[in-house]
Amino acid sequence: MSAPEFKLYDSLSRTVKPIQTVEPNQLRFYSCGPTVYSYAHIGNFRTFITSDLIVRTAQSIGWKVTYVSNITDVGHLTQDDVADASGEDKMARALQSKEGEEFANVWDLARHYADAFESDWRHLNLLPPSVRPRATDHMREQIVAVQDLIEKGHAYETPTGVYFNVDSFAEYGKLSGNRDRESLQVAVRDVVQDDNKKSPADFALWKKDDKHLMQWFSPWGWGFPGWHIECSVMAQKYLGDTIDLHGGGEDLKFPHHECEIAQSEAGNGKPFCNHWLHVTFLQVEGEKMSKSKGNFYTARDLFDQGFGPLALRLALISVPYNKPHNFTLQTLRDSQAHIDRFTESLDRIGKAGFTMDDFPDGQLPEGPLSKLSEIYSEAQAAMLNDLNTSVAVAKALEGNKLILRDHLDGKTAAQAAWFLKKINNLLGIVYATFADPSEGEEFEAEPEINGKLITQWIVERSEAKAAKDFAKADQIRNDLAVAGYELRDSIEGTDWKKIR
Ligand code: AMP
Ligand code: ZN
Repeated sequence: MSAPEFKLYDSLSRTVKPIQTVEPNQLRFYSCGPTVYSYAHIGNFRTFITSDLIVRTAQSIGWKVTYVSNITDVGHLTQDDVADASGEDKMARALQSKEGEEFANVWDLARHYADAFESDWRHLNLLPPSVRPRATDHMREQIVAVQDLIEKGHAYETPTGVYFNVDSFAEYGKLSGNRDRESLQVAVRDVVQDDNKKSPADFALWKKDDKHLMQWFSPWGWGFPGWHIECSVMAQKYLGDTIDLHGGGEDLKFPHHECEIAQSEAGNGKPFCNHWLHVTFLQVEGEKMSKSKGNFYTARDLFDQGFGPLALRLALISVPYNKPHNFTLQTLRDSQAHIDRFTESLDRIGKAGFTMDDFPDGQLPEGPLSKLSEIYSEAQAAMLNDLNTSVAVAKALEGNKLILRDHLDGKTAAQAAWFLKKINNLLGIVYATFADPSEGEEFEAEPEINGKLITQWIVERSEAKAAKDFAKADQIRNDLAVAGYELRDSIEGTDWKKIR
């Protein structure tokens, strides 16, 4: 039997095509994460859940997935929001807002919203990424990347910063189709319009600003990185020079992803990414979400209203990622009813004496519900065909209806458990897999990794940094990330957190 193909629309070639991984059966996937200046809204989660479904679908055909989803905690400016052309830093602006009053500083604010985001992530049954890197933890790498682009003639310094020279990279515009100067000028993130730029379309790699709330010392003085450079650097660091798949919401195609391609490919002359995914924006009650229209929901707003996280997840995936999705509270209520029917099946399976852990993945056990195997295969085939979630969800519901039709006995309960576990692995809509690790966190013993306690590694890393042995310091952080622990640097020191 030939290996199954995973077909997905590719925004670069503008065709639906099989994902061709560099290494057979190993997907290296980078998905742009949130800017942590407030709570993530349900549109953000449409995009993050789509990435999650890609990971699950790839795993369902036996692929090993290395999945990187970052946290943007510096450098994301407001200027490309049509309604706000002031070009402030999103983090700094949040600190000055009413909500910002409760935070001691911008680091505190970033930490709060990043923690809240990770908690929402787990509640919505999103798989933990292999690595969740933060922009502020990768400052040295970003500075080195900017220096390299200057040395190679792709970037230049002005009194306000360092800019990428788009005329030096002939393929600039290949992803978005924005090739003429006029369209290139639209939405280029830039705090100050600088007359010293060679072309108005040149985008910022580094902004000089010794008043900025988050600033680092660089060869160009105090300042902070442009937003795009973080993703080029972190994608290549954790996934290699050429990655298999890169994703985000449709707004990221230009300028963010276009700029990522330019920086990466100009830097090393290799293709940056073989397949690009962009998620169509979610609308709410027929309109673009906005606070002033009262149709703006964070995930936690809806949890507070009593909707379960799985109902929200189901509502968000009920329409395929590439189709316009008009989210309504009625969709959410309907989804809640479907989730309740899954819960009903789980109860009946429990009463028949089984748990979901009794059935390792494999063949459907013998019994009268043999049709469940075919229904699962149809759901999986739909996902492998450009993530057709509406068909896959319909198949999940069809299987559950079959399960609920008759009383479950020893045989049928085993078959039902097999089906619901497989469907949950594929779509994540049947039962929650991840408890919130923040609950009971204080009782957790400090982990030992490669023979040392994590705090010992933190001390060793600080010593390495002080001795300017950055390779060793980075190695320690990477080893800990691989073991499932993230280090977080702030002005108060370094802290650690379990990420999976
Ligand atoms: P941000 O926190 O603004 O950087 O956005 C995080 C992710 O959510 C990005 O991939 C955005 O493209 C995506 N996103 C933002 N708004 C929406 C929306 N309404 N629907 C779907 N994705 C969105
Ligand atoms: Zn990004």
